[in-house]
Amino acid sequence: MTKPEGFNTMSLTAAPDVFRQLADKLSNISEESFFQHLVKSLADILEVDHVAVEHVDSQQGRVTSLAEWSQGKFNKTAPYLLSGTPCQHVVNYSTYFVYSQVSQQFPDDKRLAALGVEGYWGVVMIAPDGNLLGVISLMHSSPLILPLYAEEVLRIASVLAGAELAHQLAESKTRERLLYKNQALKRIGRHNEALLNTINEQQRFQNAVVNVATAVAAENGEAFLHQLTAHMAEALSAEVGFIALLDTHNADFAHTLTLYVNGQIQDNFAYYLPGVPCHKVMVEQECIVVEGAAIMLPAESNGALSWVNGYVGRRLDNSHGQPMGLIGVMFKAPLTDVDSVRNVLQLFAARAAGELERQQDEERIRQLAFCDAGTGLPNRTAFMHHLEQVVLDPQSPNFALLLLDLNHFKEINDTAGHDLGDLVLKTVAERLVASLSRHHYLARLGGDEFVVVCPDMEAGHALALAQRLSDSIALPVVINQQSFTLSVGVGISLYPQHGSTPQALLKYADVAMYQAKRQKHAMCLFEPWMGRVVFEQLNFAKRLGKAIADKQLNLHFQPQVDLSSGQLVGAEALCRWHDEELGDVPPGKFIPIAEERGMIVALGNGVIEQACSQLAVWRAQGHSMPGQLAINIAAQQFEAEGLIANLLQSCAHFGLEAWQLSLEITESGIMVNPEKAIAMTEVLKNHGFGLAIDDFGTGYSSLAYLKRFAAAKIKIDISFVRDMLTSDNDRVIVATIIAMANTLGLETIAEGIESQAQLDALVSMGCAQGQGYYFDRPLTAERFAQRWLS
Ligand code: C2E
Ligand code: MG
Ligand code: MG
Repeated sequence: MTKPEGFNTMSLTAAPDVFRQLADKLSNISEESFFQHLVKSLADILEVDHVAVEHVDSQQGRVTSLAEWSQGKFNKTAPYLLSGTPCQHVVNYSTYFVYSQVSQQFPDDKRLAALGVEGYWGVVMIAPDGNLLGVISLMHSSPLILPLYAEEVLRIASVLAGAELAHQLAESKTRERLLYKNQALKRIGRHNEALLNTINEQQRFQNAVVNVATAVAAENGEAFLHQLTAHMAEALSAEVGFIALLDTHNADFAHTLTLYVNGQIQDNFAYYLPGVPCHKVMVEQECIVVEGAAIMLPAESNGALSWVNGYVGRRLDNSHGQPMGLIGVMFKAPLTDVDSVRNVLQLFAARAAGELERQQDEERIRQLAFCDAGTGLPNRTAFMHHLEQVVLDPQSPNFALLLLDLNHFKEINDTAGHDLGDLVLKTVAERLVASLSRHHYLARLGGDEFVVVCPDMEAGHALALAQRLSDSIALPVVINQQSFTLSVGVGISLYPQHGSTPQALLKYADVAMYQAKRQKHAMCLFEPWMGRVVFEQLNFAKRLGKAIADKQLNLHFQPQVDLSSGQLVGAEALCRWHDEELGDVPPGKFIPIAEERGMIVALGNGVIEQACSQLAVWRAQGHSMPGQLAINIAAQQFEAEGLIANLLQSCAHFGLEAWQLSLEITESGIMVNPEKAIAMTEVLKNHGFGLAIDDFGTGYSSLAYLKRFAAAKIKIDISFVRDMLTSDNDRVIVATIIAMANTLGLETIAEGIESQAQLDALVSMGCAQGQGYYFDRPLTAERFAQRWLS
């Protein structure tokens, strides 16, 4: 099912979208430098006022700005000292976060004061060799609240920036060294004819550096590598220049990425490495063949290089030291000045490796943006993109959309853990792939939802395919010796019969899938009548989600009394929802929808908070509430993590003791996962919370379990109380429940007492407490206080 809008919609789709933005932005580098581009993109994506990338010289304790973006424009900050700035903390701790008032915390930092910075987050920039190079800082003029994906964005940014800066520093160092060498050589050369040749070599070296520098500014990506190779061959007067990449699947093979022969670009080819000089490069980092290289060259070059003599190759490693490929030059003549060629090649190798790695990083970002990491399938973003194209494509006049949602997958996740759940999903993905042909497009929409686009497919075939997919999933999945039996609900919509836009088609497939699940069928083809019914439900769920988020639900309170004395012994908090459009909606209607749509935990947390807050309000008004306030807890809440922490937190916040609350969990809720429920009831009891089993008699719990629950109270279900005076059967049930509870030492409370006769019968059977319209209806907090609290 698509999650209702307005309700936790960010988590699944937003993060990949952000990576796509980052990838787009960073691959379109124009006149601005890489760092300028980076700061601007980060400010934009993370919505912060200022972003700075700075080089840190930790020995001298100095910080130099590489680029700074501040409220819509580039800013210049003069170099400053590290001490007394948040940067120093970043350097010390790798990352440093200040939510607000950072300027006050670092009164000596002039920039913070000048920009009026409140919130700050910095991370270090590390060179590929692990050395600290600098800091990326996010600064904001108000307290810093960042989206969840900020951390991953910043991590990737810091890796990219670290690699870039390391290259820039290495280049400028080489340039400095060259300049110095060159001057020295010139001085000596004036007196030594023999060195003239070497000076020319050095000149060539220097030209090469300039070439590299200009190439960096001019181009990016593939074109950059072509240009680099051409420059390299030219700078070394080599007839051949090339870059080759290792095959990602088979390290015995390499592919040329770019190959220049006599200034002409050649077709790329793949070649077998063992036995050729390039292989030695991969093993030993470098290979030099002074003469006669031609006979060792790969056969795949088809004799086109039969005239080659000299060969120099160098391995290209990424920043983790893993080989990515190699770069090299070849000469018609035998090599004479080996050192000079090696030096120049090394320089080009550094630049090429940097660029290749950047391309690989970008590829990774793209993967993150468009690929679902768990299954390797295209994700929702990629799918929507694909669907848009299919709808526009005149070649595909009709197609079917199949939406698959696993049944009860959440239970696997909850009981077996998320890691195992992920493996199950991966297996499901593999089975789906195996049942589809290459014309079908399969994607994972998120969670346990998959979708297939089937070109040129009519209703009959779509249903048959759905059956095949459902069958493929029905075989047990065995992981780590655990076996899982899965089933799926498939909804099908057809283009163009059912809808003409991607959004409509997806919605209709969702509607059909929902219908399949309701009817407990494996699949369902969309039919127009479904639209109205299910849209009403979707609308309902959407409004409910919003009401929960906006805290528009409130509580009524129903007294619980001692049957013999009529004294108040507690109250039950019951949730109420009034919606502008739908009017008063009874909990019997909205609670099941909240459970079905995964909103019950949020709803329940709101109830806990309100109930505690109300007890505090009554206390402040001088009312004393005898006994416990009972709160209904749904099975999913009981299973979710954080229930106890939430309860304790609310109690602490409103100054309450645990014993003031009692939790009602239904018998059927407990039976969803009795062992876990038993453990949970123990924990709750140890914290001092009261516990009652609600709707008792309807959930088939065995006596064996009942003994083990740490419940103090059993609530006899309303249906037995209602009919006990007319049905002997129900009367016997009520009597048995009460007798059984008494032997187990549990209290009993009867729900739904409406008459004196029911009351008398219950008292005679030994029931101690009761609740029902006979005493009072659920009341607003004010009415309840007026009528029941002293
Ligand atoms: P429940 O917990 O068994 O609550 C008792 C229900 O019986 C309440 O219905 C109450 O108004 C009703 N009732 C009480 N006395 C009488 C009576 O004498 N005659 C009749 N005919 N009904 C009586 P309500 O408020 O409509 O709640 C229905 C169910 O909704 C609750 O059953 C409970 O399962 C669920 N619910 C209500 N609030 C919450 C909540 O905050 N969280 C959760 N998880 N469920 C809730
Ligand atoms: Mg209840
Ligand atoms: Mg009940």
